[in-house]
Amino acid sequence: MLIRTGDTVEVIAGNDRGERSRVIKVDRATGKAIVEGVNGVKKHIRRSQKYPQGGVLKKDMPVQLSNLKFVCTACGGAVRLGARFLDDGVKERFCKKCGASAGQIAPAKKAHSASATAKGKPATAGKK
Ligand SMILES: [Zn+2]
Repeated sequence: MLIRTGDTVEVIAGNDRGERSRVIKVDRATGKAIVEGVNGVKKHIRRSQKYPQGGVLKKDMPVQLSNLKFVCTACGGAVRLGARFLDDGVKERFCKKCGASAGQIAPAKKAHSASATAKGKPATAGKK
């Protein structure tokens, strides 16, 4: 899963389909992300110490990551992400549509530098 906190994503399923918003939190264990203003629920709350007025609380519920697409900052499209190693061994995400980098995801590692990967299999791990 290559979507990270702070990314802009497009929702491709559900009530908020077509919505573009920011990822607030990614839960890797459940494969879900909380997206600002998406999949909101209203919770009615009784008066209590914490909520002396009671009332309605709006809350964004987690969305399955498979229902989200990354919005590429370079081409502006809702795209799939890939991961690749650069010549210096830096691992980065990239837009599968236009090939633009979408940010580094791991620091440079000698084992993944151009000279080391030349004999091994190129590591272009897709989204699992
Ligand atoms: Zn792109």
